Parts: sequence; C-alpha cells; structure tokens
Amino acid sequence: MTAIRLPTAQPPDSVLGARPDVTESAAAYRATGGYRSAVGPDELLRHLDASGLRGRGGAGFPAAVKLRAVREAGGREGAVREGGGVPVVVANGEEGEPGSVKDRWLLRARPHLVLDGLAHAAAMTGAVRGYVYLSDPEAGARVRRALAEHPPPLPVEVVETGRTYVAGEESAVVRRIDGGPALPTAKPPRPFERGVGGAPTLVSNVETLARIALTAARPGLRLRIARSTLVTLSGGSGTPLLTEIPYGVPLRTLAAAHGTPDAAGALMGGLFGGLVDARGLDLPLEPGALAAAGTALGCGAIRLLAVGACPVTAAAEAVGHLAAESARQCGVCVTGTAAVHGALRALATGTAGPQTLANLTRWAGALPGRGACGLLDAAAGTAGSLLRAFPERISSHLGAACRACATDLPAEDGPGRLAVAVPEVADAPSARIAPTMPPVLPALKGTP
Ligand code: SF4
Repeated sequence: MTAIRLPTAQPPDSVLGARPDVTESAAAYRATGGYRSAVGPDELLRHLDASGLRGRGGAGFPAAVKLRAVREAGGREGAVREGGGVPVVVANGEEGEPGSVKDRWLLRARPHLVLDGLAHAAAMTGAVRGYVYLSDPEAGARVRRALAEHPPPLPVEVVETGRTYVAGEESAVVRRIDGGPALPTAKPPRPFERGVGGAPTLVSNVETLARIALTAARPGLRLRIARSTLVTLSGGSGTPLLTEIPYGVPLRTLAAAHGTPDAAGALMGGLFGGLVDARGLDLPLEPGALAAAGTALGCGAIRLLAVGACPVTAAAEAVGHLAAESARQCGVCVTGTAAVHGALRALATGTAGPQTLANLTRWAGALPGRGACGLLDAAAGTAGSLLRAFPERISSHLGAACRACATDLPAEDGPGRLAVAVPEVADAPSARIAPTMPPVLPALKGTP
C-alpha cells in the first residue's frame, strides 16, 4: 500500500491539502477559499509568469508560456477560417509513468481543485470547452461526481483511455479525444497550434492546474505554490510514499523519510531522469540543480536503489518496460529500445563484451530526439546515465555475471516491479486514517 505523508504544516496553499485520504467535497473546497479568484485572468497570467510555475507532467515547460501560446493562437487572424478557432483546454490526468501516483491521487482526492484550475485556464486562454482526460476509472467517477456537484462555467467532458506509457503524451491526448488511438503524432503542429478538433489546445497536467487554482486564490503566495511539488517515492527498502515538498529538499532527506537512508542511488523523474549514484542523494530536488547534474525531477516519481541493488538491473528493468510500451509507430523506436534493452540485459547477465558497451555508448548519444515522443529518449537517457554514473560497475559486468543481477533481474517477459499503488482515498472523512500520517518532512517554506 502507498502511504501519504504530510509536511509538518498543511497550509492552504498545499496541493496535498489537510486530508489527502478523503475525497474533498465542493463545500469543503469552498471553505478553504476554493472557487474564488482574487485576480482576473490577465492578472493571474502575470502572476504565473512571475512565479515561474512549470508544468508537472514531466517536461517542466513554463505554464504561463504555454497558456499564452494557446491564447494567441486562438486570437490569430484567420484561425477560425482554417477550421481551428476557439481554444480548448484539457486536464491531463493520464499517468503513464509506472512509478507515479500523484495525478490519479489528485483526481480521486481533490477533483474540485483540478476543475477550478481548468476553469482558470479556460478564462486565460479564451477556451469555451474543456476535457478531463484520464485512465483511472475511480478517478473518473470522482470527477464526474464533482462536475455534478459544482457545474463548471464551461462544458467539461470526461474522456477515458487505457493506461499506457505514451497515452498521456500531449499529441496522443489530442488524438484520443478526437476519437483516434491514444498514440503520439509527428510534430509540428503542436497541440497549441492545432489540437482537439483542429482548435488551439492547452493540454495541462492536473497538478499544474491545481497549482494554477491555488495561485488564483492566493496570488501573494505564488512563489511558494510554484516552488513546491508532489513526489512519489518507491523502490529501496520502504513503503511507497506520496508527499509534497518545497523545492530544495535534498533527496537524502526524502530517502530517510521513505526508510532507505543509505540508498545506493535512484532512478529519477519516472523513467525520464535517468540514474544517479549515491552522491546524487545530496542533490537538492529543484529543477535547475537537477538539470545541472544531468538529471530531472520529471513527473516527481523517484525509485530508490536499495543497498546492494545493482544499477544495471535497475536500468535493464526500466528500459524493458519502455521497450514493452513502445507504440511501435517509429521504426527507430522499435529497433532502438529493443537493442538498448538487449544490451542492458546482456550486461546484467554477464554476456556483454566490449562491443556491447561500444554499441550502448553510441546509442545513448545517437537515439535521443529521433522518435515522435519521448519514450526513445527515456530509453537512451537511462542507458547513458548508467554509463556516466556507474562506470566501475559497468566494467565489472563485462563478461562476468553479477550476483545482485542474478537475484534481482526479472524474467525477460515477467511482470514489471515498477508499478506503485495509488493511495487509498475514502469517499467520506474517517477519523481512523488521519493519525496514521505522521509529519516527517520540512514545512513548505518560501517567500511570497
Ligand atoms: S518514439 Fe516510440 S513510443 Fe513514441 S511514438 Fe514513436 S514508436 Fe511510439
């Protein structure tokens, strides 16, 4: 079971909220300032710009830049004539990263916070219709109930899809809402230019929308809201954990809270941020510092390596998952992810020689950017980070079996161990659950 840990204080500007174990009603949301805006759409956009809020789906693109691009594309002369026209907004809660639970938890626990953010996004872009896109039936039921409880100011439809690694990629989102398969398309055009039904479309992660709603209600706390993030911790020797942290908390602090203080490293950003070694635990969890160290927070999913775990197995397992999830549309992805996976398994089983290592090194440099989505980049990036962070471990695997790999490496086609269960969210308050969530992490801090 996945636990939820609250920070030492639960300020009203936290996404986790005071009762993350219960679905929040419209009345409870209103009681904490929800569905009220202290500023108009133009001013809110300026606050988001000034706060530097970044998207929380994985790529970390500045939220205000994306909002403005959709608004401008909608207002562009001739847009309606070209079959595009009035913008569309989409709350993207399809969480394809196997180690992440925060988006499904958010839709189950705080659907009003997301729908409020979607309405603000519509106001800022000029959109007149919206969608909530998800793959979790339980989240879908809670969102539909929330829509009935507090009808939004624009028509909002819930669109469900199957859960895959690529279904949440923004062009796949557009394709699925338009009635096609949830598979990425070649870009350009990007959804902000031509999205759902040909209209300029904002596809925004649900945590990003939640932070937009919090900023609208409390613009004075914009920096604190923009510089905090939900994190899912798994792997290591503890129970999976969902929490919210201010940027800058060292990964080591989180690892200790998780029960793996002496982790041997971590797989960062879901399958997007690559591997870091034990020294990486001293990195502050903040986008700039992580980028400088060659890694990323991505969707906030971090898988810790337990003491004695082998990073080669971790990389092989991650790339094995990616190879199985390839949408098989781009030839280079089909052959590339399979080849990288094969090389990593050869390393793990002690059957790799210098040529395998040379191939892996070449692919890590040559494959990124060649697929229609980020899956191939994630596979190549994982291999590259393994080579950079653990060179001595790679050398010891050449032609020699690794004992840790022999124990840990799953069967080629066996079930993956990367999936994390979504924390339980009750329908109604229960006094039983709250006391089991001890505060263990620093309070959310920051200057407004
Ligand atoms: S890169 Fe891979 S997963 Fe992405 S669209 Fe191409 S084939 Fe599909």
